[in-house]
Amino acid sequence: MDSLTSKIRNKSIELGFSAIGFSKATALKEDGQKLHDWLENGNHADMHWMTRHADLRIDPEKLMATSNTIISVILNYRPAHKQPPDVPQIAKYAYGRDYHKVIKKKLFRLIDYMKEIEPHTQARAFVDSAPVLEHAWARKSGLGWIGKHSLLINRKWGSYILIGEVFTNLELTYNQHQEIDLCGSCTKCIDACPTNAITQPYVVDARKCISYHTIENKNELPTSLQPQFQNWVFGCDICQDICPYNKKTPEHNEPDFEPRFSLLNMTKEKWANLSGQEFYETFNGTPVMRAKYEGLQRNIRFINDKKTESKSTNTNN
Ligand code: SF4
Ligand code: SF4
Repeated sequence: MDSLTSKIRNKSIELGFSAIGFSKATALKEDGQKLHDWLENGNHADMHWMTRHADLRIDPEKLMATSNTIISVILNYRPAHKQPPDVPQIAKYAYGRDYHKVIKKKLFRLIDYMKEIEPHTQARAFVDSAPVLEHAWARKSGLGWIGKHSLLINRKWGSYILIGEVFTNLELTYNQHQEIDLCGSCTKCIDACPTNAITQPYVVDARKCISYHTIENKNELPTSLQPQFQNWVFGCDICQDICPYNKKTPEHNEPDFEPRFSLLNMTKEKWANLSGQEFYETFNGTPVMRAKYEGLQRNIRFINDKKTESKSTNTNN
């Protein structure tokens, strides 16, 4: 069993994953209860899909009856170069190719390898694509702890990491040592969040979160939060940028995550006048397509209106 686990581990690193961990597929009762409480309090805003299939999220056997092991992988996406700070900002995970596709492709290759060395392998790959408590599985597999901003943090890779899972019938060697919570008395992410969306340690209220509003909210953006949006038009990295565990993490070496040249060079004027054609050329195949052209335009107008308003207020003063 140890040698099979080692072979899968080695293959995952060869495929470019930052780290891998293995957990026994048992029901995640405690994490399921936390999710239930979070949903009960309405923290999911209008992401009603999150309330469905709660039982599938908690019990891996309900998702794949023969599952014995959950394999978790993480992939670092910290970019070498960032957008200039004075233009509309895109969350760093969305600079390059859609991570669902990047990670799924690697997971399928990992499963092919597992079938090659163990022909009776059954396996399913998940990346944000099914009701899977991915942070909880990654933590259980020893890949990090959940920070007070509610994201997974890995000691080496920080929190600029994406997570994927393989459910498999193989029995492997399971992680025995979960990472301890290294947040300690730090409250930097809570203090830095401009909308106070981290309502208590480890709890993010989507109704106040810029990331939710710029990506998932299909209705009017909340004018009460307008001054706090700063330059964010797709996602928000503020609570991660401030985290001490992200200060010295390595840059990614995943070619698919490289931003298109035009993104890093887009001026304020270019952003303000972005045409549908330019949107497609810059963001086709990236997570930004989720917002669609109209959604991104709405978000750009929202931050630009805010600046126009504050300028005219200043002039009036
Ligand atoms: S993503 Fe932005 S708005 Fe949301 S909790 Fe983090 S800092 Fe706050
Ligand atoms: S900023 Fe501090 S409290 Fe927040 S996740 Fe990082 S270490 Fe934890």
